[in-house]
Amino acid sequence: MKIVDIAAEDIRFPTSRTLAGSDAMHTDPDYSAAYAVVRCEGTSPPSGHGLAFTIGRGNEIVVRAIESLRALVVGRDTEELFADMGAFARTLTHDSQLRWIGPEKGAIHMATAAVVNAVWDLMAKVRGLPLWRLLVAMPPEEIVRLIDFRYLSDALTPAEALALLRDRMPDRAARERILADGGIPAYITSAGWIGYDDATVRRLCREALAAGFTRFKMKVGADAPEQDAARAHLLREEIGAERVLMMDANQRWDVGEAIDRMRPLAAFDPWWIEEPTSPDDVLGHAAIARAIAPIRVATGEMVQNRVVFKQLFQARAIDVAQIDACRLGGVNEVVAVLLLAAKFGVPVCPHAGGVGLCEYVQHLAAFDLIAVAPRLEERWVEFADHLHEHFVQPIAVERGAYRLPEAPGYGVEMRAASRREHTFPSGSVWATA
Ligand SMILES: [Mg+2]
Repeated sequence: MKIVDIAAEDIRFPTSRTLAGSDAMHTDPDYSAAYAVVRCEGTSPPSGHGLAFTIGRGNEIVVRAIESLRALVVGRDTEELFADMGAFARTLTHDSQLRWIGPEKGAIHMATAAVVNAVWDLMAKVRGLPLWRLLVAMPPEEIVRLIDFRYLSDALTPAEALALLRDRMPDRAARERILADGGIPAYITSAGWIGYDDATVRRLCREALAAGFTRFKMKVGADAPEQDAARAHLLREEIGAERVLMMDANQRWDVGEAIDRMRPLAAFDPWWIEEPTSPDDVLGHAAIARAIAPIRVATGEMVQNRVVFKQLFQARAIDVAQIDACRLGGVNEVVAVLLLAAKFGVPVCPHAGGVGLCEYVQHLAAFDLIAVAPRLEERWVEFADHLHEHFVQPIAVERGAYRLPEAPGYGVEMRAASRREHTFPSGSVWATA
């Protein structure tokens, strides 16, 4: 089957109207997708769907970057690509001219993620498997071949990656049964958006408790420290002392400020502080982690590639790795980071606060928990509860856990009507704004 086109679409949801998704740095996000559709020749062939998540303005730049990648994919034979997905991903990240506007970071890398993930979606649909099953079915040697080890081999060699994957083989079936029975454990973010008033947060906490959630995340980094403490007090009142409470500063603080701001919040027993400072500041994270232990330090949703993750692990700068399905350059680079995290013993708790991210990361988490992670405990996937109705196969969350997805593909195919209505700026949702 030949690939005949990649369509790039600018899709935006007006979430800033309700402050859903708001945090200390991103006060008015419009959850958006730079959306790629890979089309093949023939009568009614499957199409591959991938997206990169943005929060509004600038989505058009990632859309243009997808268009710039088109020539590297159109005309290729799908079975040839599927036979060596590692080589395919490298044709995008190693393009001799496009790499200058990265390399492997920023808008071009997010566009790479959309395209790489769209081809993975296509492959999974052609094979009739959900993405996680496609990955689990690959022999360890093939998984290792997905990874670009350039810049990694001082921390993880192909032989070590292979050994890690082989070590897990005896546990795989038992782990899959555990996930099939209990689901992929999740935590909820959507009760704690910073723009919500106290009454709304209380109501959402109660709803989440009733739905079976036991782990909650709140936003911190308000202008005044007392505001963070008051919000944390409110959360603890609602969820009690036993349940897990995470905090997320969304990069608001300098290094010293993060340490100072977290000291009084320790009274509320936070499980982790997420994004205390710039995602590029490896040594800053290490300093914060040393100063505020035993509070864990987490980051990853804006860690731009495997190289920065490698340094975060090498410097013992983070206690939790929050991989993002479309900030990293798609499935291949995520697999690299999962294996790095396993080697360094850092649990992976995927980021999913954004449109389509829950749909994506459930597959990555299932693969990690079955085939990579050294153990299952303390590995939770983020859950945010809005915009799922726009997907052809929305996530199913029960009793605070994702049900294992079984539909073929990578999960982010959006309904045609939703895409039409939310196309920016011509769609009906925006035309009437
Ligand atoms: Mg976050």
